[in-house]
Amino acid sequence: MDYTLIRARKRTLSLQVNKDGVLIARAPYLMPKFLIDRFVNDKSKWVEKRIKEMQKPVAPKIEYFTEDELKLFIHNELTKYSKLMGLKHTGVRFTKVHTYWGTCAPSGILSFNLSLRYTPPGAVSYVVVHELAHLQWKGHGVRFWTMVKKYYPKTNEMRALLRHIRHGE
Ligand SMILES: [Zn+2]
Repeated sequence: MDYTLIRARKRTLSLQVNKDGVLIARAPYLMPKFLIDRFVNDKSKWVEKRIKEMQKPVAPKIEYFTEDELKLFIHNELTKYSKLMGLKHTGVRFTKVHTYWGTCAPSGILSFNLSLRYTPPGAVSYVVVHELAHLQWKGHGVRFWTMVKKYYPKTNEMRALLRHIRHGE
């Protein structure tokens, strides 16, 4: 089992798994290496368990849509929600950027990231409602969120989910 050895002014040996999942052994200056190795091996079950706990959950990359399916889905959602919300966009663009899921330009053109195909339909609907709401409210103020949540009640759930999925491919 791999570990990083730190010699320290201390009497006993201690093990720690840091936040990156790296095992750190802190040992007294004079403790022979073979004793440290043995100690680490004896504790391997505990170490493996700790490493698993420390590793942040990464959402598996699931392809929910092909690009064409995503575009069609977004067009349908835009038709549905723009009618419900009484807001009209002037155009739609699809992008491949790494910084956002969607944007709303002052001209009323809405852009959507094609990486949304790696997010479930509910998340795409949320982004559609979010961008449509920007036609009415520019920033992310209280009135903006009130509108988004009114038309997409699972907003908080989808925001949390999107934080775990990367924008880029
Ligand atoms: Zn926004």
